[in-house]
Amino acid sequence: MTHVFHRNPRAEQPVVARGDGPYIYDKAGKQYLDASGGAAVSCLGHSNKFVADAMKEQIDKISFAHSGFFTNQPMEDLADFLVARAPGNLDHVYFVSGGSEAVEAALKLARQYFLEKGENSRTRFISRRQSYHGNTIGALAAGGNQWRREPYAPLLMPVPLISPCYEYREKRNDETSGEFGQRVAGELETALIDAGPENVCAFICEPVVGATMGAVPAVEGYFKRIREICDQYGILFIADEVMCGMGRTGSLFAVEQEGVAPDILVTAKGLGAGYQAIGAMLVSNEILRTIVDGSGFFQHGHTYMGHPVSCAAALAVQNYIEDNDLLSNVRRRGEQLHDALTARLGNNPFVGDIRGRGLFRGIELVADRMTREPLDPSLKIHAKIKSAAMEAGLMCYPMGGTIDGRRGDHILLAPPFIIDETHIAEIVEKLGSTVENVLAKAIQ
Ligand code: PLP
Repeated sequence: MTHVFHRNPRAEQPVVARGDGPYIYDKAGKQYLDASGGAAVSCLGHSNKFVADAMKEQIDKISFAHSGFFTNQPMEDLADFLVARAPGNLDHVYFVSGGSEAVEAALKLARQYFLEKGENSRTRFISRRQSYHGNTIGALAAGGNQWRREPYAPLLMPVPLISPCYEYREKRNDETSGEFGQRVAGELETALIDAGPENVCAFICEPVVGATMGAVPAVEGYFKRIREICDQYGILFIADEVMCGMGRTGSLFAVEQEGVAPDILVTAKGLGAGYQAIGAMLVSNEILRTIVDGSGFFQHGHTYMGHPVSCAAALAVQNYIEDNDLLSNVRRRGEQLHDALTARLGNNPFVGDIRGRGLFRGIELVADRMTREPLDPSLKIHAKIKSAAMEAGLMCYPMGGTIDGRRGDHILLAPPFIIDETHIAEIVEKLGSTVENVLAKAIQ
């Protein structure tokens, strides 16, 4: 009997033993192709020696020195690396240990920024339906993921939710993609006016939505309109790139492809690729200056922020990606993966949509392709696909999203940036037969 308080104490999980590139092996020697990086984390695959050596080298020098007493070289170098490549005038980086911590920091920083400017009434945030920004209380409140929020609803600050830019589900037949994007972006203005613009700090959303929708990019022009509205009403735009950032969609930052820059950008998962727990908040010069010229101190912090070994690992990960031009591979293999998924599953009567960017791909399952009716949630198709895929030696990330309060099913794929065409063939073959078998059994 285990003494570990597992998140799902009833689930029986294999014990992981080792990793090698895109593969993970359990204690019994079974091989799994990691086609989801866990939850879009392991962008370099497993046991990368270059990263391991960089971590070891750092541990041999010093493994921890509190950031309240010292800065450290890997943290300085990693900040330089990110800022040199960041969009707009994001020119300072605040390091934390993961995505939720990065989002919490962004929410608090947005509030403190307006406080320092004497705009004390600005305390509220606006977000989108069917979004996820993390599991801590502030980040959970900022997300529109109903089933995660419900048990804790009394603890959460109220956050108005606007429609996501989710073309497959939200676009009307009588509008073009462009019109749809302008309409849903315009909801931000309506929500701002309802809340009173003088009461709002920031709008937060994911440039490409991950866990709650399965790799959904916005339509062209959507983010330009969002940026305009934020500027017009003087609120901050926080881009949550915890999942979609750090090369996952084919550019280092996902928002680059939208032609706009946020005021705050948070990232995590792919930053350290799972070699260490690390997250980051990139902040515009204007925000940093306001804090420096005001109280001079960001009223927030964590023990492990800027951890030297985490920063050394993340720096090695990012250097490895750049030195080996892995983002070209992300773009090329991403297209191949999309084409192969479409060839294998595109005519399946339960596959409604195949979408995404780079090596961030989603498949939405439906009961009826014409009406786009979601599958009956009680069938728990996403959970069945997850365990059947593991049985077949494939890690993918199926989730039940929230569609009008009901859960719909999608599968997220986020394989490592090092994959080649043999891995794509293996992913598509294993996933294809898993999806077909599970659906054939569940729906007679
Ligand atoms: N934001 C987004 C977009 C995420 O996908 C996640 C995690 O999946 C988080 C925030 C929270 O990150 P973490 O699980 O590292 O706390």
